[in-house]
Amino acid sequence: MAVAFNRSKVLNEFGYPDATWPGPVHGTDIGLVEKSSGLFPDVDGLITKRRETVLTTMGADCVPLIAVEVEKKIALTAHIGWKGAADSIHQSIFEAIENLGGNLLHTQVLLGPAICGKCYEVDEERILQVSKVLPAAKSESGLDLRLGLKDVLNQKVKSVEIVGDCTYESPNLFSHRRDGVTGRQAGFVVLL
Ligand SMILES: [Zn+2]
Repeated sequence: MAVAFNRSKVLNEFGYPDATWPGPVHGTDIGLVEKSSGLFPDVDGLITKRRETVLTTMGADCVPLIAVEVEKKIALTAHIGWKGAADSIHQSIFEAIENLGGNLLHTQVLLGPAICGKCYEVDEERILQVSKVLPAAKSESGLDLRLGLKDVLNQKVKSVEIVGDCTYESPNLFSHRRDGVTGRQAGFVVLL
């Protein structure tokens, strides 16, 4: 209930009461949104060409990604943890945009607040799994998914911007690793 309430509150403040939320499973599927449907189950990403149709993404250490193809007007959101990164969700993102007729050279990407490479200590095997796909994600003691994603995305898209601090270090941000059960940051995108 609290989650539903908070979601509708933030959307009303945003000026769009209806939205689509992904039901993340740490997979690589991107759901095509034809109209706002509340929950879109079993996907970590959403894409639409529809105007006035809010796509959301959430994270608390995982990377919230927003992409917009500015010429063809395509919006995409994704939620990316180590598993999706290791399974090349960035390729699914490229394909989803191109399948809707978009051009990656006209696509701008934002990577929102996520845990940094200093704070995200993981074991060797996980570092290996992810850095095979995202070489620049490898940090001294773990993984920085945003740096890894920025590197591979930059090879195809127009621009990639990292927005926001490390979730673990910032007291103003939710961090799953720091807090255990926790809230989430939410990102929204809407085509006007
Ligand atoms: Zn950090």
